[in-house]
Amino acid sequence: MQATGSLRCERAKTAAGWTGQRCQGLCTGARRTAAAPRAVAAPPDTAAAPEPSTAKLSVNRPQKDPEALQFRQLPTFQDCFPASEKHYREVEHEGTQLRVPFRRVSLTGGSGLFDVYDTSGPQGFDPRQGLPKLRSGWVAAREARGDAVCTQMHYARQGIVTEEMAFAAAREGLDPEFVRAEVAAGRAIIPANKRHLELEPCVVGRKFLTKINANIGNSAVSSSIEEEVEKLQWATIWGADTVMDLSTGTNIHETREWVLRNSPVPVGTVPIYQALEKAGGEVEGITWELFRDTLIEQAEQGVDYWTIHAGVLLRHIPLTANRLTGIVSRGGSIHAKLCLLDHKENFAYEHWDDILDICRRYDVALSIGDGLRPGCQYDANDAAQFAELLTQGELTRRAWEKDVQVMNEGPGHVPLHKIPENMRKQLEWCNEAPFYTLGPLVTDIAPGYDHITSAIGAATIGALGTALLCYVTPKEHLGLPDRDDVKQGVIAYKLAAHAADLAKGHPAAQRRDDELSWARFEFRWADQFNLSLDPVTARSFHDATLPQEPAKTAHFCSMCGPKFCSMNISQELRQLAQQGEQAQQAQQGEQHAAPAAPATEAGSAVQARAEPAAGEGGAPAGQEQSAEEGMQRMSQQFKEMGAQIYH
Ligand code: SF4
Repeated sequence: MQATGSLRCERAKTAAGWTGQRCQGLCTGARRTAAAPRAVAAPPDTAAAPEPSTAKLSVNRPQKDPEALQFRQLPTFQDCFPASEKHYREVEHEGTQLRVPFRRVSLTGGSGLFDVYDTSGPQGFDPRQGLPKLRSGWVAAREARGDAVCTQMHYARQGIVTEEMAFAAAREGLDPEFVRAEVAAGRAIIPANKRHLELEPCVVGRKFLTKINANIGNSAVSSSIEEEVEKLQWATIWGADTVMDLSTGTNIHETREWVLRNSPVPVGTVPIYQALEKAGGEVEGITWELFRDTLIEQAEQGVDYWTIHAGVLLRHIPLTANRLTGIVSRGGSIHAKLCLLDHKENFAYEHWDDILDICRRYDVALSIGDGLRPGCQYDANDAAQFAELLTQGELTRRAWEKDVQVMNEGPGHVPLHKIPENMRKQLEWCNEAPFYTLGPLVTDIAPGYDHITSAIGAATIGALGTALLCYVTPKEHLGLPDRDDVKQGVIAYKLAAHAADLAKGHPAAQRRDDELSWARFEFRWADQFNLSLDPVTARSFHDATLPQEPAKTAHFCSMCGPKFCSMNISQELRQLAQQGEQAQQAQQGEQHAAPAAPATEAGSAVQARAEPAAGEGGAPAGQEQSAEEGMQRMSQQFKEMGAQIYH
């Protein structure tokens, strides 16, 4: 860990002289100084930069003294995943050595080791210092070559496999060429601003593992920089593939700086929020120039993707008149109000090409916003929603003409039977660009449980091909989520994404289920906990009634008790059947073939293990005999431990 210097907003410092003045917040072309050892080393841009406006200044307050910030000690990676270790796979890419992270779970039986996808990022770094800059060399080489266009889509279309593509492919156990082809076709994106050097790249597309996004960010009434950094770390340790900083309160610029310098995952924003802050909270004060300057400021900081509601057109707004809940998107309502104030077209639509030029220079991906998404079941799939989706398709194709990476945002609140129409239309109208949906929530009657109502919709639309699922926390509609809510939301969405991957037939997803089911059937309780999404919670639920150590090998739990454990009865049946079969084979003088063991998720470090021939609706071939041996071994262990559950 480096211990020199502090993470400060160098642009704020430069502009305001760090003397308590207001930050100018424009940040265009402002360079970080040598006085900040952990700051981004940003070479000057060679392409002509759009000139910033001086009409509006940020109202961001100066960042607090970083040394005065009080970061709480979060539970560590080891606390969250007690039987896991973080490992790195060395991957050679055209002379560059890539260190690709994964989490290795140690098991007492089954395959022995099991590797899973890991988003937690480098551990043990002080937030004041930020994370190591993994991509420094990759980006520096491109800038030294003078690449004016640096988007992943641009490289992919040139037939170039970038380090980001190779890295993302290795995380998924795929051929880098496959990733390149999907990015070139626009069916996948790798959000990776050239200024976000701390990033561990990932690929978002429907042919890859389904990804999840966690929203963080302060509001005008709650939170602090420390809390937002804590939420970022907490979200990524539990599996968030991307985060969106949706801050709408104070210190927006500084909060984002802290988030970016500590984020191993892509960071998205909704820039109109900061534009509104700069306009003093008055929508009327937002101009294209102000918005453009905000984009450049955020691009310079390293934001990887933007939600821009350019598809909210003047002619769409009357279509919302008869809705039950009107326009519920914050960004959508701001753009709609601006349209109506002057009876003019949405400036983001009018300036789409200018926005694309900024994206192209930094490789900021676009997440074309769904500003007219339905806010309740009643409004789902209405004319306003689909009119905007159609415009999203037009904007997508225009972005691709400039090699800008794009995904499309989708709803929202949609009943189960109306979900497929959303996916169908998005694929058709937006030419298979990745779909990114908020839930959708499949009912409106469960405030306090909307992580569940939305995870149902997320699993459903994920199975149909949505690439990125934006989480919803239990606090949705009720308040700003805290750290615990973030965990609840992430876990709900990890399981929604995994369920979607299973339904899509993703082999890596199936392997993890098989491994956990195998542990469950063998009563390897510790392995069952450790293969789960949240090992500590799983163990605590088990131990609430059977905390004794022998219970970790017992052939039952407190759900059914020892006499009614169907798993145990099933094992006894198998034993009987096998004994009969063996007797018959002995008679015929036949021998059994050696069994194979299950492999790992994502086909990684222990992939050398024999793969099971997974059979539809049954245990993988060869697994039954292994299970038999495992059961006998666990039974023996239980006896040796005293066979005592109830004292
Ligand atoms: S007791 Fe019931 S719930 Fe527990 S392991 Fe056996 S079958 Fe499963």
